[in-house]
Parts: sequence; structure tokens; C-alpha cells
Amino acid sequence: MDSGYNKLIRERAKELGFSEIGFSKAEKLTEEEERLKDWLDNGFNAGMAYMNNHFEKRLDPTELVPGAKTVISLMYNYHTELSQSDESIFKVSKYAYGRDYHKVVKNKLKKLFKYINDEIHSVSGRIFVDSAPVLEGAWARKAGLGWIGKNSLLINPKKGSYFFLSELIIDLELDYDSPISDYCGKCTKCIDACPTNAIHPDGYIVDANSCISFLTIENKEEIPSEFKNKMENYIFGCDICQEVCPWNRFSKEHNEPDFVPKKDFLDMTAKDWVELTETKFEKLFFGTPVARTKYKGLKRNIDFISE
Ligand code: SF4
Ligand code: SF4
Repeated sequence: MDSGYNKLIRERAKELGFSEIGFSKAEKLTEEEERLKDWLDNGFNAGMAYMNNHFEKRLDPTELVPGAKTVISLMYNYHTELSQSDESIFKVSKYAYGRDYHKVVKNKLKKLFKYINDEIHSVSGRIFVDSAPVLEGAWARKAGLGWIGKNSLLINPKKGSYFFLSELIIDLELDYDSPISDYCGKCTKCIDACPTNAIHPDGYIVDANSCISFLTIENKEEIPSEFKNKMENYIFGCDICQEVCPWNRFSKEHNEPDFVPKKDFLDMTAKDWVELTETKFEKLFFGTPVARTKYKGLKRNIDFISE
């Protein structure tokens, strides 16, 4: 163990553009076991059947990465004050404005991994960005990067929640950080603002079956009619439970050129959205997170709101 290693890794992560970094011992997340089991047993994972897979691996990084000693959690800012010119009709979640974050963040993690190997110590390990087998929020919480809010997202007390989370799981022992307190207190703004009541009345549990983010992205079926007029114009993702969170008053503009949205996308009018063709979809969204729904999925969402 050498705290000098932590310092060097922190410095390199900052150089690469990560906002925050924290370290945890790679061991089974016993506290989360019951919570995850209840969430799955209640079917709150909706159509995301893959969440049922590899239960043990999801809780224990040593099952995922042989010889794992340390989970390094990192936050990458995507907040922007830029918005679509006409948000009164069709809205896209801000995390999806730019180039696919999986690629952008993964490239940076690869550089950090290489730096550790070349300059610090020979290590084996794996890189994860928004990856199903890893309980990213739980690891970020354990590493002291924030607490899990009632909206189920990680909230950093100085920077808010508009961040992509990612991890390096490596076989090198380092110094470990400690979790911080939960500062949601008596606030219920996210619960009150959620248009589909997807957040449990006591908070901390989000039912994906009712969450606009799931309904518009991972969901492969028709959107159930009970959500008619409740989508608040969202056709890809949803930012409402973050927009109302008081801790996001600390959010700062990101400085990642790859996340800058295309002007053509920001300037889309209601007519442009309704008349969106597959060719235009490809032109606007190739290489962005929106490509995930494919043309068919986005068109379904647009039609659901406009019909
Ligand atoms: S993302 Fe939207 S729909 Fe989902 S819990 Fe938050 S406010 Fe509710
Ligand atoms: S809106 Fe309030 S209750 Fe919800 S996550 Fe933010 S601080 Fe917590």
C-alpha cells in the first residue's frame, strides 16, 4: 500500500478531465445485496432482463475480475446550459446531446489504466462505463464521491448529479476512501416532480416500469397508454428528477468538446421531429447515445407524444 500511488492516479485522472475520483476496497457489497434482490423480486427492472443475470458478479468485483483488490470510481461531467431551441414539443435528455459517452469515457479510462501500468505498478484489471455488471452508484458512494439520492442517482455535495460514472477494477491494493452522509434530508422534490410516479413515495427506489428514461430507451414494446400526456415531452430519457434537485445548483458547464451538440439537432422544430426520416435520424444521431433506440424506437416515442 502506498498513498503516493493514490495521489498520482488522482492527478492523472484530473488531467484526463474526470471531475472526481475515489477508491474502494474490492469486496462484496453486502449492504446492497438485500436492496438489489428486493428490487429485482419486485420486477422494478422492467424489461431489462439482463439485470437478473450474474447476481453474484454484480455484488462482488472479485467474481468479475480475478484477483481484484481495488475499485476506482470516476465521475465525468456532462452538464450543459445549452438546450434545444424549441423544448415545448420534443425533448432529449442532456446526457445524450453529444458523442456516445461510452466511447469518450472509455478512451480516457484506457489512458488512465495505461498510466498506472506504465508509471506506477504493473496491474491487471477491467474498465467499466455505465456497465450492467457493476453497481456503479454503490461503488461511487463507497468511494466517498457522494450519496445515493431519493431519485436513486449519485449526488456529489459540491457538484450535483450530472455525471457519467465509470470504474477501473484492478489487482493493486491502494488507500481507500470513506462514504459520506446522505444529505437528502426531508426534501422530496424529485418524488413530487416525477410525472409518472416512478419514484417510491419514501424515495430511493425507482420502478423502471414507470420511468420515462426506461420507457423511451430500453423499452422495446409500445409505451403503455397509461403514460399518455405524462411524458413531459421527453422522447429520449428524462432529466426531471435531476433538474429539481437542489444540489444541482452547483452543476457547472462541462468542457468536453465531444459532448457539444450539433446545431442542427438543437434547432429541430416540432415539424422537423414529426417528419424525421431515417436518413435524417442517421445524420443527426449516428455515434450519439440516441442511436441506441434506432430510428424505429425514436419514431415510436415521437408518435406517442404527438398522436
Ligand atoms: S427520470 Fe423522469 S420518470 Fe424517471 S424517475 Fe426521474 S423524473 Fe421520474
Ligand atoms: S431532489 Fe431532494 S430528495 Fe431528491 S435526490 Fe435531490 S435532494 Fe434528494
